[in-house]
Amino acid sequence: MNNSGRNTSPRPGWHFDNSYTRLPEYLYARLNPVPVAAPKMVIFNRALAQDLGLDAGLLAGEEGAAVFSGNRLPAGAEPIAQAYAGHQFGHFTVLGDGRALLLGEQITPHGERFDIQLKGSGRTPYSRNGDGRAALGPMLREYLISEAMQGLGIPTTRSLAVVLTGEPVYRETTLPGAILTRVAASHIRVGTFEYLAAHKKPDGLRILAEYTLRRHFPDQIEAENPFLALLQAVQERQVSLVARWLLVGFIHGVMNTDNMALSGESIDYGPCAFMDRYDPATVFSSIDHGGRYAYGRQPFIAQWNLSRFAETLLPLLNENEETAVELANNCLNAFPELFRKTWLSGMRAKLGLFNEEEEDAALVHDFLACLQQAQADYTNTLRDLALETPPDGPPFRHPAFIEWQQRWQLRQSRQQEPIQASRELMDAHNPAVIPRNHRVEAALEAAGRGDYAVLETLLEVVARPYDHRPEYAAYREPPPASSQPYRTFCGT
Ligand code: AMP
Ligand code: MG
Repeated sequence: MNNSGRNTSPRPGWHFDNSYTRLPEYLYARLNPVPVAAPKMVIFNRALAQDLGLDAGLLAGEEGAAVFSGNRLPAGAEPIAQAYAGHQFGHFTVLGDGRALLLGEQITPHGERFDIQLKGSGRTPYSRNGDGRAALGPMLREYLISEAMQGLGIPTTRSLAVVLTGEPVYRETTLPGAILTRVAASHIRVGTFEYLAAHKKPDGLRILAEYTLRRHFPDQIEAENPFLALLQAVQERQVSLVARWLLVGFIHGVMNTDNMALSGESIDYGPCAFMDRYDPATVFSSIDHGGRYAYGRQPFIAQWNLSRFAETLLPLLNENEETAVELANNCLNAFPELFRKTWLSGMRAKLGLFNEEEEDAALVHDFLACLQQAQADYTNTLRDLALETPPDGPPFRHPAFIEWQQRWQLRQSRQQEPIQASRELMDAHNPAVIPRNHRVEAALEAAGRGDYAVLETLLEVVARPYDHRPEYAAYREPPPASSQPYRTFCGT
């Protein structure tokens, strides 16, 4: 990579190893970010910078603005746009990083490896008709939601910085341009494998599969059939991830196969949002007309996406196609039961249950039915269940709910653990706060006016969602009726 002539910066602790650039060259395109007019840092994640082994003090200033805008390459960076394909709303498309660049893989002081990616860094060979840029609002939204997910303890890509470019972007209106620096275990997607399968690159497929095993599932390399082990391991992580989404009421909104990372991290926070009232049919995304990515459909979609992944692996699973299909199907068919168990065990914790009983599934099911019937807030009802004196509002006065509560209390009394332990278990699994949609909008609106204090406070609130912090009680309030129905946009 020729960085000569560019102003590179060695000091702030960059320690890049660019293993992805050693993969076959059809997997990426080498290019530099397109410089921007007037970079200005608006938000910077000091704690994350430190975890990455970076000098947060240095990067918080002019150096960070220059680096995280793409105007100055960090020492050792070898920027690439990654090629990938994907099923978008069920339809296959060849994509690639159309507005993102991987600067390189930062090796942390603990020896961990993280992709450092600029999102909104200019046109690439995969931009199609796009401008390669991003607007401030959606980049701040991704920053906020990804850090909220981190606070909730859900595997996620992280956000290191958002920098204003000083250039406008043209969408329905003219908006301030911005670049997000995303940190990820990797950006290998189901769609990356689909790209290789579609372009008939069997050698590339094996190389990428082995690379993915080394990078994310080193324990599986020695498995009898490492590629079947890869499929199983990816499935396990998706089961765990999507179960956690459901448990906190998260709706990703655009679970296309290009937005499913094999690492098991949540990735690509576009139209995502948290559900207020419990309803499995909840959809926020303005483009999801059919409800394909509705809250309650997310497990089915994850399984569907895994089937696309499995298809790409068939040539590696067995030289006999029939055998390969059988191996893949056996794995995929285990998904529903695996998911049910994982999710149910999460719900048990949310209801303060330590042991397992036969009727737990019915107890949980009836609880959710009550919530739906009473149009009750999912997050708050669960959090309030642990209170000695629950609030007087819905659903706690609803006759069906009162009856359910008696069943639940009886169930609790049948376990050995004292009620206090049960309450603590519940508080550790039921967030007091989530990034409520009206709060997110208010924070982004203020930021659009140059006031970042609202966003900073919201970030502080959602960073520790399980803590009891009465001073932030207002952040628990569901949206006012006036802000319903809430719509999100695949903001670019
Ligand atoms: P996303 O909806 O962010 O997952 O993006 C889907 C695809 O569209 C990816 O290949 C992106 O790189 C590409 N894309 C989104 N916005 C732009 C843009 N403004 N310019 C170029 N490509 C874009
Ligand atoms: Mg995407």
